[in-house]
Amino acid sequence: MKIGFIGLGRMGFPLASHLVKNGLDVTAFDLNPAQIEKFIQLGGKNAENIQDIAKNVDVVFTMLPGPKQSKDVILGENGVLANLAEGKYLIELSTIDTDTVDLLYQNAQEKNIKFADAPVGRLAAHADKGQSLFMLGAEESEFSYLQDLLLKMGTTVLHCGEPGAGTRMKLINNLMVLCYCQLNSEALVLAKGLGLDTTKTFEVLTGTTASNGQLKEKWPVKVLKGDLTPGFDIALGFKDLTLACQAAQSTGISLPVGNLVRNMFQLARHAGKDGQDTSSMTDFWAEANEIEKIRI
Ligand code: NAD
Repeated sequence: MKIGFIGLGRMGFPLASHLVKNGLDVTAFDLNPAQIEKFIQLGGKNAENIQDIAKNVDVVFTMLPGPKQSKDVILGENGVLANLAEGKYLIELSTIDTDTVDLLYQNAQEKNIKFADAPVGRLAAHADKGQSLFMLGAEESEFSYLQDLLLKMGTTVLHCGEPGAGTRMKLINNLMVLCYCQLNSEALVLAKGLGLDTTKTFEVLTGTTASNGQLKEKWPVKVLKGDLTPGFDIALGFKDLTLACQAAQSTGISLPVGNLVRNMFQLARHAGKDGQDTSSMTDFWAEANEIEKIRI
């Protein structure tokens, strides 16, 4: 089986690397030559362009920043669908919006290409260790084949429904993940403002039912240690909150906390936090409140 992988960023690189380490024949493409260079050193192959990949593989994975890049790469004139043969697979791993995933599925069906969406859950650190969870949207008949393939990159595949259901589930998942970024920050900054010890505060908040996975697993190794490298950065977080807010708007469902937190992420972006890990919302919030940076 030959695999094409487009997008070797913070997430795509480790996922594609696990496919190579598991003995699969993987050809990748990314606009950033440094990522391609690292991938070749691991035993992967590269292609000059998307066309060269799509013409020669059985399965294409895409792991791109968002809807615009996915549409360009998949639906573009020299893109994936224009070059992939009938009966082959396109698996969209990126986090995109519901209209875009439906459009990709529809275009794939018209070309008799098998389509699935499998956005990725858990932290970038889990992807590094091959411990990702995939929220799979796929036809029932494809589940077993896709599960075997996805388990070469992660530990868990949850079948959420038909194509498009994975993306819908991911928007719900990230709405919660990203709202916790702001809530974590409010709690830690208020605790500091009240003169409480940060280590003790952390112990209490992660030892009771107040705890959340982001605070427990990510905060102590990222912002609280002063490591602001992404992980999952503020700009991607803002994109996902925007997707969830748009999904709420288009279904007529109100989302007060989601919209508020989207605005907080917008303010953090204006304060220069793009490119930093989402846990750096706590630095942004401390600065906004003139409280010293919170570290343990
Ligand atoms: P990233 O910005 O690190 O990587 C994106 C990669 O895509 C970059 O290497 C970039 O050069 C490449 N790229 C952009 N446009 C391209 C094009 N036209 N052709 C080829 N390559 C192109 O982002 P990431 O953190 O790897 O996230 C990727 C996706 O996964 C996003 O949709 C994100 O929301 C989602 N996600 C991220 C995390 C996380 O923790 N970082 C977790 C789960 C899901």
